[in-house]
Amino acid sequence: MRIANHDGRAVLVLHGTDPDGAKGADIATASEGRFGPDPQSLYGVWDDFTAWATSALPTLAADAVLDRSSSGSPAPRPPQVVAIGLNYADHAAEAGMEVPTDLPPIFTKYQSAITGGFGEIDIHGDTDWEVEVVAVMSRTAHRISEDEAWSYVAGLAVGQDLSDRALQFAVQPAQFSFGKSWPRFAPIGPWLTTIDELRADGLDPDDLALGCAIDGESVQDGRTSKLIFSIPATIAKLSEVITLMPGDVIFTGTPDGVGLGMSPQRFLRSGETLRTWVEGLGALEHTFR
Ligand code: ZN
Repeated sequence: MRIANHDGRAVLVLHGTDPDGAKGADIATASEGRFGPDPQSLYGVWDDFTAWATSALPTLAADAVLDRSSSGSPAPRPPQVVAIGLNYADHAAEAGMEVPTDLPPIFTKYQSAITGGFGEIDIHGDTDWEVEVVAVMSRTAHRISEDEAWSYVAGLAVGQDLSDRALQFAVQPAQFSFGKSWPRFAPIGPWLTTIDELRADGLDPDDLALGCAIDGESVQDGRTSKLIFSIPATIAKLSEVITLMPGDVIFTGTPDGVGLGMSPQRFLRSGETLRTWVEGLGALEHTFR
């Protein structure tokens, strides 16, 4: 199933794959107040919610038409946001850093930076792009194994780990969390897609194509099968220390092709539109000013 944030209300997507025009059922209305309307609240009751949704799905009526201007993050206020750096070898190389072996760089994007999949974003400093798969947690996870990690994930969404490189590298040690947390620097959307939905579509959640393009020109084009730490391996590794909570968001790392690695370096300019996509999860579109 796919769950969208439409004007702050959780909507179960029923028809269509375009977030502009797809139709769905308002979850709070359809469940007579049992679940929602806040999308973030679903993750705390995920097993009950999905059991209800699965049984109700055949009879639900589409009472909401999605549109880009009302599209928010499917996880708007995660208790924790964990982001992974240098998780693709080609990206580590273009950034001039060593490929991590035991532990990748781990940082956060502060919750106030989260936004939805569409709209305008203000440029700050040297604003760079990073397409990433975002995983949203459905269960409390501490010291879990890689083999069981997928069962702790509610679903995946498209993420953009926007970064002000000037601020990020203004001092040593680098300010990853601070430089990546300007307002709207953490777009997530266009909706959450569950793992079983991906598999039903014939996709492997460990091997999804992903990329982004500026004004139609492709700049990143990778596959999640090339992650150094796969999504389940990342979750298992994080859970060795952190207690991951329902509704937590994990930015899983970006492939090569960021502006920092170009020669000469190239960052987003006013008026440019960035399209960010992941196979099976959809696409985001933001214009910069
Ligand atoms: Zn990143």
